[in-house]
Amino acid sequence: TLGLAGLIYLILAFFGGRFLADKAMAPIQKTWRRQQEFVADASHELRTPLTIIRTNLELVQGNPQETIENQEKWLGYIESETKRMSTLVDDLLFLARADSDALILEKTTFSLDQALRETTAPLESMANKKNIALITSYDSIPAFAGDENKIKQLTVILLDNAIKHTSPGGTVSIDLRKKASHAELIVSDTGEGIPREHLEKIFERFYRVDKSRSRAQGGTGLGLSIAEWITRSHNGTIKVSSDLSKGTIFTVDLPLNQIDKKALQ
Ligand code: ADP
Repeated sequence: TLGLAGLIYLILAFFGGRFLADKAMAPIQKTWRRQQEFVADASHELRTPLTIIRTNLELVQGNPQETIENQEKWLGYIESETKRMSTLVDDLLFLARADSDALILEKTTFSLDQALRETTAPLESMANKKNIALITSYDSIPAFAGDENKIKQLTVILLDNAIKHTSPGGTVSIDLRKKASHAELIVSDTGEGIPREHLEKIFERFYRVDKSRSRAQGGTGLGLSIAEWITRSHNGTIKVSSDLSKGTIFTVDLPLNQIDKKALQ
């Protein structure tokens, strides 16, 4: 016979086991829920341009007698939504690969300031077109270990955002500072700023302070999630501070020569 102690032991083992199993499952369930949300959001984001493309295609096909101007307008919508979709698919693929650990960093040793110079040059004309001054200042970091293309991608995301959210006449600055153990990359702007209640959410996937404006500017809401992944995969940190009357500052710290070997295999 079991006896009272044995019975109590069995009951405790049963419920304790369930409790522990639930506890062990919690992070898995959380990841699973996040993935489901991601797929749902991604499908929704893809459906919007598809609907616009279909509607305008029907207009073109159904109105052959319509003026050239209108036909061109409809085709223009189809073109810009097609572009949006391909950016969106590229960004989604990046994050899907990152999630499944299939994204591999291609590590080399390169000049960080030179890489930034190459990245900034094409963005200068985008800033100039909007009458925004782009001010650059780079310390020399000739031998930085990391993935050059991804560091460039991170820089483009931050600069592109800064230019988009700054009014004509404003300033966007990019600074690279060499510190004892890390490189500090600062992208700041004199733009509209980010309201405090949104600040901690802007790195979330698809999060946008003003969804329709982001869409109108070709945004996917995934840029900062990608920027964060790139920073983290270099063992770095990314921080944001913002003031509605002054603008926004993104600070990226990247350790020098301390790249995690596992992430780079
Ligand atoms: P998006 O494709 O919309 O730019 P991101 O992930 O790059 O997506 O940015 C998320 C949101 O963060 C943007 O929609 C915008 O609301 C806000 N944001 C990012 N950078 C800035 C900035 N420099 N100034 C003001 N708001 C910004």
